[in-house]
Amino acid sequence: MKTCRFIRKDGVVWVPSPDSWLGGWTRQRWLERHFSGIPVRSASAATWADMSEVNEVYVLCEVSDNFTETSLKKFRQIEKKREEKILVQKFDTYFCDIDGTIFKYRKFETYKSSPAELTPGSLEKLIEIKKAGHMIVLTTARPEDLREHTLMELEQNSVPFDRLVMGLARGPRHLINDMDPNNPGERAVSWNLNRDEGMSDVTVRSP
Ligand SMILES: [Mg+2]
Repeated sequence: MKTCRFIRKDGVVWVPSPDSWLGGWTRQRWLERHFSGIPVRSASAATWADMSEVNEVYVLCEVSDNFTETSLKKFRQIEKKREEKILVQKFDTYFCDIDGTIFKYRKFETYKSSPAELTPGSLEKLIEIKKAGHMIVLTTARPEDLREHTLMELEQNSVPFDRLVMGLARGPRHLINDMDPNNPGERAVSWNLNRDEGMSDVTVRSP
């Protein structure tokens, strides 16, 4: 889920200033997809604080290409309910590799000179996981200094995720978890996928 606060004022959409230049660039492209034709400007922290005192703040939210506008007050209530539901309902966490799994495999040194290309069906599978309510943690050996670049690639390909863990060791990944004595069944699951062949073998549990 992608979100951004905004204020409509005198035919202009105002948003708070972005955290980074690149973050601002990708956010601007995203905002223009929704507010097409309406000027979108970012306000300095001081201006935003002044504006939000006297204007209603809204939240633009996108889930799988569906945009909604909600007042900040209402959005916070919905988020609170959603968090409470997550605590009660037992959703799963999917730890998912990026290169060779979501994107076709490329060598580290070619990340910036070649485009990221989705593997067959990987995006659809990730959307299915999110729609079922589960959490997606992307795990990659890409170094931290490629974070902005990686976020841009994920953004450009509309890859849904909740966390991005970078700089992992390059060997196999092991998932360790305890079993619930009251609810028998495996609680550490893994899939070994053929490189670049997509994620169709991955099954998504209904919570
Ligand atoms: Mg990989």
